[in-house]
Amino acid sequence: MSDICRYGFGPEYQQLFDMVERYSRENLHELSARMDDEDWFPRDEYRKLGALGVLGITLPAEYGGADMDEAAQAMVAHAIAKWNPSISLSYLASDNLCANNLNRHGSAAQREKYLPGICDGSLLGALGLTEPGAGSDALGSMATRARRDGDNYILNGRKLYITNGPEADLVLVYAKTSPEHGAHGISAFVVERGFSGFGIEKELDKMGYRGSPTGELVFEDCIVPAENLIGEENKGVRVVMSGLDLERALLAAHCVGICERALELSVEFAKGREQFGTAIGNHQLVQRMLAHMYTETASMRGFCYQILKECEGLSDDEVGHGEIHMRTAASVLLAGRAINRVLDNGMQIHGGMGFMREMEINRLYRCAKILEIGAGTREIRELIIGGELVK
Ligand SMILES: Cc1cc2nc3c(=O)[nH]c(=O)nc-3n(C[C@H](O)[C@H](O)[C@H](O)COP(=O)(O)OP(=O)(O)OC[C@H]3O[C@@H](n4cnc5c(N)ncnc54)[C@H](O)[C@@H]3O)c2cc1C
Repeated sequence: MSDICRYGFGPEYQQLFDMVERYSRENLHELSARMDDEDWFPRDEYRKLGALGVLGITLPAEYGGADMDEAAQAMVAHAIAKWNPSISLSYLASDNLCANNLNRHGSAAQREKYLPGICDGSLLGALGLTEPGAGSDALGSMATRARRDGDNYILNGRKLYITNGPEADLVLVYAKTSPEHGAHGISAFVVERGFSGFGIEKELDKMGYRGSPTGELVFEDCIVPAENLIGEENKGVRVVMSGLDLERALLAAHCVGICERALELSVEFAKGREQFGTAIGNHQLVQRMLAHMYTETASMRGFCYQILKECEGLSDDEVGHGEIHMRTAASVLLAGRAINRVLDNGMQIHGGMGFMREMEINRLYRCAKILEIGAGTREIRELIIGGELVK
């Protein structure tokens, strides 16, 4: 269904997408029911993605990466999400939010230390920005502090709702080094799981994306070596803003994968379920729901891949503001709204059966809502777009 070449990407992208889609269908799909039931993260299966060559897709070949761009990473997220949204979400947190930011902004020594493990799957990454008192106003209200103490920084604070947090080996953490400078006093650090003063407060119990671990992290006089500062002190806002635009473009592709699967399931169900002496798919009101699902999925796929194309080759100075800031926000605004309508129709087609937890459509439905909340809520996306339009 996803002809990637149609959007102007070369055959190597199509090959990558097809390979990951096939692997996910044959190997990851069967894990999703247990992941949902037991909130189990299949770490060994995640590691195998390294051997397959899909981890570290944007990272340099010298570290074991594939040296491709964020569009390729989006295609991997799309292909996995179709068959196992939870693994795709964890993949995005590790491979994009953590490792891609580390590669773009870290030193050669930091890249050398952490990126090979990301590529072979032995290391899982996370990104810690949100806090109990700092969600949409993540930068302004950030309370986590980092104070220089000789060769170390001492971190104190909490990070909430962190994807992969409970399992992660390394977390890219934002903290205020010069609180008096507000958003311009933020720095980024790599914190390793074993650092003194770093702990996992709790693993959170979610309605959807179960099996992709989410946690609250605490830093209590956490000792972070100064060499783990990413980029320059007080320049963390650049890392956040450039990363957020790409994250939004990638999350839109993740939504496309889920919608494609929801449509497949709904068509299958509509052909098999009979009422009034015929398959419900022969009733025109059911066909209308399928038609809307198809159209919304096709339009989000087109817009999402168009924006990914526009992200190609952008430097850090070109993202986080202006046209691309607006367009990546628009891509995920559209995708987040559309996926909720697509899943609503998918559930409706499944009737009472769809309300049963064990149904795949039910699992997908429970994922949809967060896609209008994470990576900037629907309202924050609207504020970005509206603000740029009236500038
Ligand atoms: C499953 C999951 C995974 C996540 N993963 C990560 C992760 O890996 N790393 C990370 O750092 N964070 C992560 N997050 C956090 C996520 O990014 C935040 O939840 C999100 O940014 C919203 O913050 P909040 O929940 O505090 O909501 P709030 O900011 O409190 O917002 C509540 C409501 O108020 C609205 N609102 C707030 N300000 C305004 C305004 N100015 N104008 C209009 N409306 C406004 C919001 O749009 C929303 O509707 C995750 C969250 C979840 C649930």
